[in-house]
Amino acid sequence: MSLPHPPPPLSPLDILGQVFGYPDFRGPQQAIVEHVVRGGDALVLMPTGGGKSLCYQIPAIVRQNAGHGVTVVISPLIALMHDQVGALHEAGVSAAFLNSTQTQEESSALEKQLLRNELTLLYAAPERINTPRMKGLLGSLHERGLLSLFAIDEAHCVSQWGHDFRPEYRSLSLLHETFPDVPRIALTATADALTRQDMIERLKLEDAREFVSSFDRPNIRYTIVEKTDATRQLLRFIESEHAGEAGIVYCQSRKRVEEVAGMLEDAGLKAMAYHAGLDSSLRQQRQDRFLREEGMVMVATIAFGMGIDKPDVRFVAHLDMPKNIEGYYQETGRAGRDGLPANAWMTYGLQDVVNQRRMIDTSDASSEEFKQVMRGKLDALLTLAEDTRCRRVSLLGYFGEASQPCGNCDNCLNPPKVWDATEAARKMLSCIYRVQQASGISFGAGHLMDILRGKATEKVLQHSHDQLSTFGIGADLAEVQWRGVLRQLIAKGMVRVDPDAFNTLQLLPDARQVLKGEVSVMLREQALGGASDRRKSGAKKGTKTSVKGLAEASLNAGALERLARLKAWRAEVAREHNLPAFVIFHDATLRAIAERAPQSTAELEGISGIGVKKLEAYGSEVLRVCTTEA
Ligand code: ADP
Ligand code: ZN
Repeated sequence: MSLPHPPPPLSPLDILGQVFGYPDFRGPQQAIVEHVVRGGDALVLMPTGGGKSLCYQIPAIVRQNAGHGVTVVISPLIALMHDQVGALHEAGVSAAFLNSTQTQEESSALEKQLLRNELTLLYAAPERINTPRMKGLLGSLHERGLLSLFAIDEAHCVSQWGHDFRPEYRSLSLLHETFPDVPRIALTATADALTRQDMIERLKLEDAREFVSSFDRPNIRYTIVEKTDATRQLLRFIESEHAGEAGIVYCQSRKRVEEVAGMLEDAGLKAMAYHAGLDSSLRQQRQDRFLREEGMVMVATIAFGMGIDKPDVRFVAHLDMPKNIEGYYQETGRAGRDGLPANAWMTYGLQDVVNQRRMIDTSDASSEEFKQVMRGKLDALLTLAEDTRCRRVSLLGYFGEASQPCGNCDNCLNPPKVWDATEAARKMLSCIYRVQQASGISFGAGHLMDILRGKATEKVLQHSHDQLSTFGIGADLAEVQWRGVLRQLIAKGMVRVDPDAFNTLQLLPDARQVLKGEVSVMLREQALGGASDRRKSGAKKGTKTSVKGLAEASLNAGALERLARLKAWRAEVAREHNLPAFVIFHDATLRAIAERAPQSTAELEGISGIGVKKLEAYGSEVLRVCTTEA
């Protein structure tokens, strides 16, 4: 059965099956691979988890087999190169990475291997590409016809409009200038038009063929709830839907990250903090644990996550709102790469809106044009959060993709009630106006709500605001409802929070239409008793299946038991190889093996994720684990 030296040339489809163990290409993969194999330039826009790596790994193998030499992969993720290269070795592909920890001897050995055309893929960070030594090496390879392809991963890092700008990426245009005949493939999961255009110009990809995939991630369930007591809400969410599963929790600040990680640990969960304030060896260590241990929750700032291709992250939770939809989509996209059900869950509140505005307004590093773009992007995210339509329809719509209500988001599963808030909005706006007129200065949200609700606080009395005509006109609504109204007036650009003046509220020109009664304001109803009540009642009625239930359904007792033994075996192998467990086999592969209950290695063939090399290396072991009775 073993194929030690299959006769060349192997087609891309052969390689997909034999090396990676997958029967079919996904979406546009095949077209991309064929285009790049022929030497065409490509720009690939595919969501996280879509399968970008194979788009350059398979051409790298085909082209090296044909004598074209090495594919150089430029990736900003130095910390992950070891595992990426390890995963290729497991599949039987010769690959290496260059980094600054290597000794002279190691680098020289690598260079010799390259000059002998023995390496299929070489990973390097963008700052390495520009070193004189690397330039010299690339030059020698090129002279010998051994520079096959450049793959530029996370290509949006070249643009300041993207969310991970890396100045070192700017120099990558040199590749094209120096080696115009070497094909390039640039890949990203960022879809917005501005970043895309900038990326094309900066990397000089005007002539590259664009491959745009659907950005939908159907297995991810989107939920956005109003923030009441964020940490308690989070704990309830994890305990009820994701006990013992791996997830990422994003928070805005380092301090908050530490607090939340501590809180989860106190509650008995396996949780760790990750942010840029920790020293790099500790960060690396925690990242490795997250990748290698099961059921770990990483609480992190956005410093964590790019390139984390752990396929079994079952949830991504945002305790604070991200900056924009691109960031939200990228971060939530880290859930469920294996295609199994996963949750994207976010809490947000008025304070998030205020904080994000302030960060934009007070950043002095950027131009007014830049701030304007960032404000627009924030507004789009607010609109998503307040939206009563299907979340997926709004998300995909933002990326220019039309779709139908999905049946797998909070708004589809439990349609929110909408109320006519025109009158409330007018009360709020006129109260802001009256206060400003009477006192000549503006006040913050809390004070405004006290006036509306008729609370004679010390501050209200001190400014005689109990004398205003708007005092007490909003006593009919609860504070949480007023917060909802205010948040949405901010989101709709009628009210502004001034970060230079103690976060006071000011009217914007658009408020006039509402004050004059020209437009009506329809708002999402706020859950008075806390945002999670609706979820609970939904679950009781059976309208909400938990994601965990979906993922584990369909396995009988025997299969579940085999799965547990396979996981234990995998953990051991992973430890021996110093690699994350999923690099050995994905959960989905183990699940398929457990279900099939194989009696011979022949019965392992054709299971997705088992290629020739892995069958050879692990087939008999897997069989032994499956057939040994516990
Ligand atoms: P991306 O880089 O686009 O986020 P990856 O390249 O990491 O995605 O792929 C995501 C997951 O999907 C990986 O675990 C990969 O092995 C798997 N995958 C990719 N292509 C296929 C395919 N054609 N069939 C089955 N699984 C695939
Ligand atoms: Zn939906």
